Amino acid sequence: MGTEQDPAPLYPADRLGKAAAATRDAGFSALLLTPGSDLRYVTGYDAHQQERLTCLVVPAEQPPFLVVPRLELPAALASPAGDIGLDITAWEETDDPYALVARRLGPVTSVGLADRMWALMTLRLRAALPAARQGLASEALRGLRIRKTPAEVAALREAGEAIDRVHARLPGWLRPGRTELEVAADIADAIVAEGHARADFTIVASGPNAASPHHGASGRVLTAGDAVVVDIGGTMPSGYCSDCTRTYVIGAPPPDFAAYYQVLKDAQEAACAAVRPGISAEAVDAAAREPITEAGYGDHFIHRTGHGIGLECHEDPYIVAGNAEPLQQGMAFSIEPGIYPGAHGARIEDIVICGEHGCDRLNNGTRELVVVGA
Ligand code: ZN
Ligand code: ZN
Ligand code: ZN
Repeated sequence: MGTEQDPAPLYPADRLGKAAAATRDAGFSALLLTPGSDLRYVTGYDAHQQERLTCLVVPAEQPPFLVVPRLELPAALASPAGDIGLDITAWEETDDPYALVARRLGPVTSVGLADRMWALMTLRLRAALPAARQGLASEALRGLRIRKTPAEVAALREAGEAIDRVHARLPGWLRPGRTELEVAADIADAIVAEGHARADFTIVASGPNAASPHHGASGRVLTAGDAVVVDIGGTMPSGYCSDCTRTYVIGAPPPDFAAYYQVLKDAQEAACAAVRPGISAEAVDAAAREPITEAGYGDHFIHRTGHGIGLECHEDPYIVAGNAEPLQQGMAFSIEPGIYPGAHGARIEDIVICGEHGCDRLNNGTRELVVVGA
């Protein structure tokens, strides 16, 4: 951990050593990480997902190496992976990169594969390393990735501030006569304009669509009296993600809406207030669920309270009944209860950090009901 004058980097060079130690602790001979968040977490390399094999090999006992297609070598060398003393080997178009990995690795009994590795690579690695049991790399890396470093918290905070600026612009776009898709296009542009590398999702769920938690955006025309659930997020140049939901109403809300919106806001507040090191993930879920159930809307809160976030929008820890895992300082996750009675619905979502003394919210736009002009 660095001082204020010398902040620790987001992708520190000692990650490779920590990953090797975690590989040993998890009982794997090696981790095999194809492009995705595990590879980026360990090296900082935001590698391109494609059919040609790129694979970081992290053996428990030998030095790590990165195998890349020749045409990706310049990108790999220009990435943070080029600055950490990592052995990078390029393969030619007619080489068999799977045989190359197997040859360099030598005899192994078990390998941990990147959780989101393509089946194409999983099966070819099985054929190239027939004696190796295959497991998930998360068995080794979960313990590292689940607790964010101060640099990761700063990256998530920057993402939170960027998506808050997008929500601040929403009232200007939610006008009767416009479609959900038109609003979603404005949002996608703004997600990039406010500092993200890309928009990942733009849920604009109006009227009855608001009762469908993962509705995308449709041709439905916004109408006076609509509640509109807007759940949006993107990935920052740092690799870290944003995810924030606010619910808006156009003109006067539906008759019973204001009452349950207040219940929802209280539930979201109660769950945030429950966050502290040592409390279980499921107790935070219960803290959100109790006031909603007590008010008679329990059947309309149809999803878990939250999910972890970092280099993936959804990752460990999941804030859900059945997850007794105690929260630890540095965990990052959403608190996003919703109530979906059917004709309409509402959700409020913030990303929070489990701090030493409690909850640190990374989204700070108003949670009061925002009424936009009809
Ligand atoms: Zn979701
Ligand atoms: Zn979320
Ligand atoms: Zn969301």
